[in-house]
Amino acid sequence: MTQILPEVYLDYSDILIRPKMGINLNSRRDVDLVRTFKFKHGQTRTGLGVFNANMATVGNFSVASKLLARGMFATLHKHYSADEIGTFFNSCRAQNIPLDNLFITIGLKNSDTEIQKLKELESRYGWTAPRNICIDAPNFYIQKALDVLMRVRHEFPDSVIMAGNIASGDICLKLLDYADIIKCGIGSGSACLTRKQTGCGTPMVSLIVECADIAHSVNGHICADGGIVDIGDICKALCLNADFVMAGGMFAGTDEAEGDIIEKHYETNEIVDGAHVIQTRCFKAYYGMSSEYANNKFAGGMSNYKTSEGRELLIPYTGPLDKILQDIKGGIASCCTYIGATSVKHLSKCATIIQVHNQLNKVFEKYSV
Ligand code: 5GP
Repeated sequence: MTQILPEVYLDYSDILIRPKMGINLNSRRDVDLVRTFKFKHGQTRTGLGVFNANMATVGNFSVASKLLARGMFATLHKHYSADEIGTFFNSCRAQNIPLDNLFITIGLKNSDTEIQKLKELESRYGWTAPRNICIDAPNFYIQKALDVLMRVRHEFPDSVIMAGNIASGDICLKLLDYADIIKCGIGSGSACLTRKQTGCGTPMVSLIVECADIAHSVNGHICADGGIVDIGDICKALCLNADFVMAGGMFAGTDEAEGDIIEKHYETNEIVDGAHVIQTRCFKAYYGMSSEYANNKFAGGMSNYKTSEGRELLIPYTGPLDKILQDIKGGIASCCTYIGATSVKHLSKCATIIQVHNQLNKVFEKYSV
């Protein structure tokens, strides 16, 4: 019989972090944003647990290098060749950008070739320790995903492996026998159509709590992937016990994201010298990795047994990525001071989460400049 679980699953917009008295922190500067992660399979990495999504638009070299330079974590999308990645390594080394927190993505399709690419990186471009691998599949519930994960662990026993995506706690333990980080989130992404096309998905807040609880019980880690609308959502994910947070749309309007700035001209109601004033607005293209556009670009077209589970968007241009990265650091530090957490690691210990009906005051939203 089909089961309907009585509990209502919550998303970021359903909760807030309640400010409270705690250890008295005088300034955001006193907060320690760096955390050392000790992974299940023996490796250690240090940084602020924020990732760019491994998508073609934001998993590019320019976005990744900025996150790494700011002490965060980064992924590269799977469509780069070993040669291109090798050139990127050399350019980071020349600029003193640390590569310790960089994850190279591989997909499930053509897994032999993908594993070969990792080996080539190792032998030709000095991709020795630290080696981090992201095994990416929109749906990690298929047997092939587990087979590839087992194989990658076997071939790269000393690497940090992040695997996903999943959207329930039941599969976490099985994956953590081989992976260090489980990427959680199906259907939450801003360029995603999975929930519309398949009806499948799990709201992020309840998912994070469920998966973190299980993963942490065996020294595993989780990455909350998708659905970050505001920086406050990153703070919420960390308070809920996510070790890492991954965002795509938040970085997709920046100078560093792939693609040109697209200008659009709009006629306004204002009339000067008898003519309507024309306003110019700037956009950047952002598309889901399962969109028809991505399938045409990377897979030679949509297979006839598939439906597109991603959309193509033009989103507002937001300027330099550095400004957003600074705001993320500032937002997390400020969140710590509101709840008396001396470090990002202590956020979840200090947080009281409240369920709300109305998260934000949007009365002047349309007057934003
Ligand atoms: P965002 O931060 O934009 O809300 O979400 C980014 C995440 O959306 C990615 O890391 C990935 O997990 C997910 N995603 C990317 N492309 C697609 C797609 O085409 N379909 C679906 N269902 N999810 C996608």
